[in-house]
Amino acid sequence: MSNTRIEALLEAPFVMTIDGTSVTAPKTLGVINPATEEVIAECPDATEAQLEAAIRGARAAFASWSQTSFEERREIMLGMADRVAAAARDLGSLITAEQGKPFAAAVTECESMGPGSLRGFSEMELASEVLIDDDARRVELHHRPLGIVAAIVAWNYPVHTALQKIAPAIWAGNTVILKPSPFTPLATLRMMEQLRDLMPPGVVQTLSGGHEMGRWISAHPGIAKISFTGSTPTGRHIMASSAESLKHLTLELGGNDAGIVLPDADVEAAAPMIAQSAFNNCGQVCHALKRLFVHRSRYAEMCDALVRAVSTMHVGDGMEESTRLGPLANRMQFEIIDRLVTDARDRGARILCGGEPLEGAGYFYPPTIVADIEEGAPLVDEEQFGPALPVLCYETVDEAVERANASDKGLSGSVWTADTEAGARVAARLECGTAWINQHSAQPTANHVSIPFGGFKASGVGRERGLLGLLAYTQPQVINLRK
Ligand code: NAD
Repeated sequence: MSNTRIEALLEAPFVMTIDGTSVTAPKTLGVINPATEEVIAECPDATEAQLEAAIRGARAAFASWSQTSFEERREIMLGMADRVAAAARDLGSLITAEQGKPFAAAVTECESMGPGSLRGFSEMELASEVLIDDDARRVELHHRPLGIVAAIVAWNYPVHTALQKIAPAIWAGNTVILKPSPFTPLATLRMMEQLRDLMPPGVVQTLSGGHEMGRWISAHPGIAKISFTGSTPTGRHIMASSAESLKHLTLELGGNDAGIVLPDADVEAAAPMIAQSAFNNCGQVCHALKRLFVHRSRYAEMCDALVRAVSTMHVGDGMEESTRLGPLANRMQFEIIDRLVTDARDRGARILCGGEPLEGAGYFYPPTIVADIEEGAPLVDEEQFGPALPVLCYETVDEAVERANASDKGLSGSVWTADTEAGARVAARLECGTAWINQHSAQPTANHVSIPFGGFKASGVGRERGLLGLLAYTQPQVINLRK
């Protein structure tokens, strides 16, 4: 991708989509490139009146969209998938510019992950059921749409997360108001502008804005459901402010995933996979491995192998081909990582590699492995959401399971062992929505559209993806006929 092309992409104004048209706002928000710390573009900061206009548009569109056939919806969704995939390089370069991840990963997000949701859901059957059919009665169960769905999105996978919410919502017959993160609105706004002519006005609208916009959405009585991806504290706010209007909620929240390395694990094979899970997207993945428990007999060996595995991860601007780790996505996240690692060092933990921000502009932080650390350290107890992995030592498997489960989060977890049956028994004891064996947040299944994903405990409410995820965008209706 040439610099002139990126400059041209950033120069064209970024607009919202309300009722099928381009809309700007009286105020704008600056968007920063985390690799340079420069403001690269302005996005509209939507007003409350614009949210009202979008709600009117969504309500009007719902009347006819909810009556369309699955064939009509499928054709539109496949058209959307093709168009996003065709624009993947342009959208990907916008993601790299606003979020920092390596360009190849940003292209994958737009070329396959996002379109995969549109294609996958458009093949998922939302079948009605006959519950009773006898001489006297016929009782049927149908899955009806909810109405207006608000999709509120985090900044780590802006396009993928948006499409993962839009696809099941519109497939089920709902209309959608999408709010990207104020850190990463650019690719999303551009994508929705490009998809506009494929669907009737008001079916999917996009409003950019700050956290205030999220608060207006969650308190609004006209919105039937919120599908939210973001932090646990914000999830709690949304649940509280949705209470008055009794909204349906899907909350995909934070994680503090534990991996347990059993004494018989193949450490050499496991270490690169663990490093990939912990440092992919610069550690900014909800289901990244965030606490690693290693049996004392393999502890030193695993620490060495992890340091070797991350030594080849080049840190740099996401537009450079050699980059494996881009910058952290924003200053807030960069400061969190710096604070957690500094605190760990001050407590006497051993920093095996990394441990200091890179000098110069940009939120660059190298992959950091921290040994001789325990619970009580914020790097272990809090979700770091960045490139610093604490490695903890344990004596017995029961102890490791208990410590892994001691977190209030429960998104996913993993067990590493040569004995997969024993691994499955340990996995079943982990309090988390996905328990991996000899892998962690690994492709191709980590984001597969047919596999439900979500958390136990404070990691969330409900599931995304799979039939469970789709049903969450519907409400059951029974039709009971006396013959
Ligand atoms: P965040 O909670 O700060 O923001 C997420 C979105 O919520 C943004 O669009 C923001 O503007 C909006 N928002 C902020 N305050 C709001 C309010 N009071 N009401 C309604 N909306 C509001 O999260 P973040 O920093 O963007 O994302 C990082 C977090 O997201 C991490 O904790 C990570 O684990 C989590 N995450 C979870 C998943 C998952 O699937 N479980 C996936 C990705 C990220």
